Amino acid sequence: MNKLTLALVAHDHKKPELLAWANQHKKILEQCNLVATGTTGGLVADEIGLPVQRFKSGPLGGDQQIGALIAENKLDALFFFWDPLNAAPHDPDVKALLRLCSVWNVPVACTPATADLVVTSPLFLSPEYKPVKPHF
Ligand code: PGA
Repeated sequence: MNKLTLALVAHDHKKPELLAWANQHKKILEQCNLVATGTTGGLVADEIGLPVQRFKSGPLGGDQQIGALIAENKLDALFFFWDPLNAAPHDPDVKALLRLCSVWNVPVACTPATADLVVTSPLFLSPEYKPVKPHF
């Protein structure tokens, strides 16, 4: 069975929430390929002990690298804990990443509660479940 590829991104004030969530669901995440923006990925690897392919830091293009995976149909889900209370210099990249998830029907969780529900869904690791991909 092919492993799911998941992307993890958390803005600075949201990194503690993402780390707590990743720790809580470590057994599920261990069964997946993980990619992440640079700082987020480093923390998940060092503090949770999960292997992560790290892209550039978000503000330096990491969000766009994850977007490229989506455009190439190589990403199965995005866990993106963005910060609703602080402005980000790379806000256009943040919007672009969320937009591509909608364009390509990629599951995206922006809060720990949604992320809990996504990874514990019986469909999540089911080889039978494949989101419908739009035809353009
Ligand atoms: P970071 O990037 O993981 O390198 O902090 C996240 C972001 O700000 O998009």
